[in-house]
Formats: sequence, C-alpha cells, structure tokens
Amino acid sequence: MDMPKTVFQKIADREISATFVYEDELCFVIRDINPQAPTHLLVVPKKLVARVSESAAADATVIGHLIVVAGKLARDLQLTDGFRLVINNGRQAGETVPHLHVHLLAGRELAWPPG
Ligand code: 5GP
Repeated sequence: MDMPKTVFQKIADREISATFVYEDELCFVIRDINPQAPTHLLVVPKKLVARVSESAAADATVIGHLIVVAGKLARDLQLTDGFRLVINNGRQAGETVPHLHVHLLAGRELAWPPG
C-alpha cells in the first residue's frame, strides 16, 4: 500500500496551498506557516527522504542542493546580517514533519546554543 503523502508532498502537488518563493526540478521553497523569525523559509526536496538519519549516498546530490539553494535565496533576499539553517531530526530535536527540510531563519538575533 502507498504511504500517505506528507504535508510537503501535498504542497508540492498543490493539494495544500503555500507561499512558494522558489522551485526547481529537485526542490521547492515555501514560507513557514508558523514563522519563528521575520524570514522563515523551508527548503524541501521533491524526493521524499524522511530525515537525515535515513538518508543514503544516493541522496547526496539533492541534500547538497538544498544548501546551495538556501545560499542563493540568502543572497537574493540580501540576508547580509546573517541567517541560520536548521534540520530537525527526530522527536527530541523537534521534528514534526517526516519529510527532510532545511529551515532558513533570519531577520533577528538568533541565540546560540539553540533551544
Ligand atoms: P520540523 O518541526 O519538522 O522541523 O518543521 C516542520 C515545519 O513545517 C514547522 O516549522 C511548521 O510550522 C511547518 N509546517 C507544517 N505544516 C505546514 C503547512 O501546511 N504549510 C507550511 N507552509 N508550513 C508548514
């Protein structure tokens, strides 16, 4: 039986609406529905990889691409004061959607260490 689609697969298939800021053959970027900073984007691979701990060597190109796209967006959006990329893996880290994605956060001071 097919696995139910993740919320991000539904967004990619336009079954759920979202604000898209970028899309290419490997990934798309949307605004987070519950932003934690003035800029809070999600960089999402079109291919479903549940989380980093389940990634495989064959996923290296697409996962690397997510970071390159985040860098391009940071330039395009002129996030010159800094930004943070976050990937939550597993319950204790706050993962809520089992579809790997990179958070791009910017626009305020970001505490370190996080959380
Ligand atoms: P995680 O907690 O798994 O690292 O991140 C999931 C993120 O997806 C959360 O920041 C949450 O606000 C966001 N999110 C969950 N559902 C939706 C949705 O339907 N639309 C959008 N744009 N973001 C969502």
